[in-house]
Amino acid sequence: MVPIDSTQVMTELQDTIVNCRQCPRLVVWREKIADEKRRQFMDDTYWGKAVPSFGDYQAQFLIVGLAPAAHGANRTGRMFTGDRSGDWLYRALYKVGFANQPTSTDINDGLTLTNCLITATCHCAPPQNKLTAEEIRTCRPFLMREFAALRNLKVILALGKIAFDGVLKTLQEETGESPGKYTFGHGVEYLLPGNRVLLGSYHPSQQNTFTGRLTEPMFDAIFSRACTLLASTEST
Ligand code: SF4
Repeated sequence: MVPIDSTQVMTELQDTIVNCRQCPRLVVWREKIADEKRRQFMDDTYWGKAVPSFGDYQAQFLIVGLAPAAHGANRTGRMFTGDRSGDWLYRALYKVGFANQPTSTDINDGLTLTNCLITATCHCAPPQNKLTAEEIRTCRPFLMREFAALRNLKVILALGKIAFDGVLKTLQEETGESPGKYTFGHGVEYLLPGNRVLLGSYHPSQQNTFTGRLTEPMFDAIFSRACTLLASTEST
C-alpha cells in the first residue's frame, strides 16, 4: 500500500479551502469587509477569502480556533495573524518553542511553526464573530480531512466551546461512535479514541483577556501541558 503523503494531501486540501464558496452568507461578508476595510488598514490589500490552516503539515499538535477575524486573518490571509487574539496565541507558542518568533503581523513576517498546525471550526470570517449551525456543519468536512491527513496527531487544543464541540462532533463522524460526555472548560483534558488527547482552553479573544477571565499564565499553562503530553507520547 502506498503511504499517505500528509504534506501533499494537506496542500491540496488548503487549496480547496481557499477556493471554497459554500456558505453564501460568509462569502458575502468576507468580501464586503475586504472591500470596505477598516480605516487603519486602508492601504492593505485584504485577503477576503477562506483562510487556510497554517503551520506544520506533519504536526503532532493541532490548535482549533473559531473562525478568522474580519480585520485579522480575513485581512492578512493567515490564521490568527494581525489581531489581538493572535498576539496572545503566537506569544504563547513562541515561549514553548512551537513558533520561531513571538509576533505575527502579516503573511510575509517570517513566522514558522514547528510540530504545530492552526486550523478553525470555520475558515471564513462571520458577521459579529457568530457562526450558524449550518455553517459549522458545512465546514466540518475540512476538519475531518485534516484529522485524517495528520498522521502524527497526538494533542488537539480547542480554543473556546464552539471549537471544542466541533472537534468532538468531527471525531464522532470520523469514528462513527459517540465520543462520550465531555464538558468544556479551561484546562480540561480528555483521552480520545486513537490515543489522542483533547485539551480545552478559553479563547484568547479580547472578551476574555480584557476581562481577566483568561490571564497569560492561565494560557501559557495550556501550552506547557501540551508539551508535556507530546514528550510523554514520545517516551512510550
Ligand atoms: S466557512 Fe468553510 S465551508 Fe463555508 S465557505 Fe468558508 S471554507 Fe467554505
